[in-house]
Amino acid sequence: MANLLLISGLDPSGGAGLLADARVAEQHGLRAVGVVSALTVQSSAGVAAFEPVDAELVGGQLTALLSDSVVAAGKIGMLGDEEVARAVAEALRLTAAPVVWDPVLAASSGAPLYRGDPRRALALLRDHLALITPNLAEAEVLAGFPVRDLPAMRRAAESLAGGMACLVKGGHLGEGVAVDVLSAGGELVEIAGDRMAGGEDVHGTGCALSTAIACQLAGGAPLAAAAAAAAAFVRARLAAPVRAGRGRPSVM
Ligand code: PLP
Repeated sequence: MANLLLISGLDPSGGAGLLADARVAEQHGLRAVGVVSALTVQSSAGVAAFEPVDAELVGGQLTALLSDSVVAAGKIGMLGDEEVARAVAEALRLTAAPVVWDPVLAASSGAPLYRGDPRRALALLRDHLALITPNLAEAEVLAGFPVRDLPAMRRAAESLAGGMACLVKGGHLGEGVAVDVLSAGGELVEIAGDRMAGGEDVHGTGCALSTAIACQLAGGAPLAAAAAAAAAFVRARLAAPVRAGRGRPSVM
């Protein structure tokens, strides 16, 4: 069984972050390996606090792991701060596997999950990434201009891509159809899917999507096909969300 590298925050409720990512990997027939990049205090009702893990510890763990094991692909989620991003970028020199970064900056409830300027984290990481998967708010911060409609999504995807690909997720656009825009190898691809009623209220959709894409890349799928298959995986999960607590349901 091939290894999937996960570098994610820990959500104790299991709806997002490393625990959810590990279940996505398992459902794709991959074996999860990886590190916790940040700790969060949260329940299904929302995020109360977070703390990045000591960057030296994250770097040491990843170096030990990647010096020993081969990974077929990787997914990075919440990093928490620039020091952790730097340690991750350093350690990723040890693998040539395709890596997807879901640049988590805040929970959908609005609670922040990153301290500092994430554009600096992107600058550190980008040489090691195959794909970055910002939502509209994240694309806006990373691209540096408002991203609130389809033309701006296309501009953001094109401006963030380069060396790596960029998938801007349109799930928060609020129209009948959810459109994601992929810029890869100088080409723009739009991936449309029916919006699931109430889909935005389900916890952990971004984590599940980026991990599912990494799983597809681990199996050798080309980027556009990987993104489309991952979106179909998440839509299927959204049809039957998990109710693990008294608050919001989770996708995993
Ligand atoms: N906690 C962790 C560790 C995460 O990685 C994320 C999002 O990626 C969240 C919480 C927030 O998830 P959501 O915005 O789906 O509630």
